[in-house]
Amino acid sequence: MSTNGKPRVAFFDFACCEGCQLEVLALEERLLDVLQWVDVVQWREAMSEHADDYDVAIVEGSITRAEDIPRLQKIRQTAKVVIALGSCATLGGINAIKNRFPLDAAMAEVYGEKAEYFNTAEARPIHAVVPVDYFIHGCPINKEEFLTVIQHALMGKPYTVPNRAVCYECKLNETVCLYEKGKVCLGPITRCGCGAICTRFGQACFGCRGVVEQPNLHAAKEVLTQYGYTVEDVLKRAGLYNSYVAQQELAQVGNERSAVPSREGR
Ligand code: SF4
Ligand code: SF4
Ligand code: SF4
Repeated sequence: MSTNGKPRVAFFDFACCEGCQLEVLALEERLLDVLQWVDVVQWREAMSEHADDYDVAIVEGSITRAEDIPRLQKIRQTAKVVIALGSCATLGGINAIKNRFPLDAAMAEVYGEKAEYFNTAEARPIHAVVPVDYFIHGCPINKEEFLTVIQHALMGKPYTVPNRAVCYECKLNETVCLYEKGKVCLGPITRCGCGAICTRFGQACFGCRGVVEQPNLHAAKEVLTQYGYTVEDVLKRAGLYNSYVAQQELAQVGNERSAVPSREGR
């Protein structure tokens, strides 16, 4: 806490494009409201001052190198509250596309002959390494949601996104379903909260806010069949943001299978 009684906030970034921090900066004069509630003591993208003690850490980006781990652990030890900012931090996001390939092949594809000079590992969201208190999904984040989450964090209240799919918000917008226009859309299985902004402007959902809890897979499959698509069409599209999540799901299925005694063993 600062001497003026305001909580001290610090921003950090790991592997990412820093676009979510830019969204926060794009709040412009509304950032002044936030500064009435908190003191920002570290924010590389916006200021040169730097302090190492803070109450709230806002962390953008995914964990992709061994040296990221102690850095993130130190942030967690220092901060009372940790907020994951954007899909790279909350899901592994775009960085986790590489997890679908052997690491050597991914390195060779990106860095060519210089691959040996780079240090990288499987991409992970930050909650795979340390406990996280608040999640702000999206690529990039929704500015309004950022303000809401900060308010909840400062009041010590939990913040949860309603467990509804993007289709819900798309219907509220009265958008004509993009399946009618021959596009594959991940809205039926994706967590809402973005106001279905992509479909509003004619772009199908890529699932940047992650998969809604307990998606109605049966209904989603029916929609696919009705429009002549397959589950593979959806999985291909879902890999853009949800490769890490899919990997974890598959690992869990594998673990559950191996926990079941084999027929021979019964
Ligand atoms: S979530 Fe998207 S906009 Fe935000 S840092 Fe990652 S890639 Fe950039
Ligand atoms: S599938 Fe996509 S376009 Fe169709 S209703 Fe759902 S979110 Fe909207
Ligand atoms: S519509 Fe889908 S891809 Fe677009 S912002 Fe919302 S969750 Fe992300």
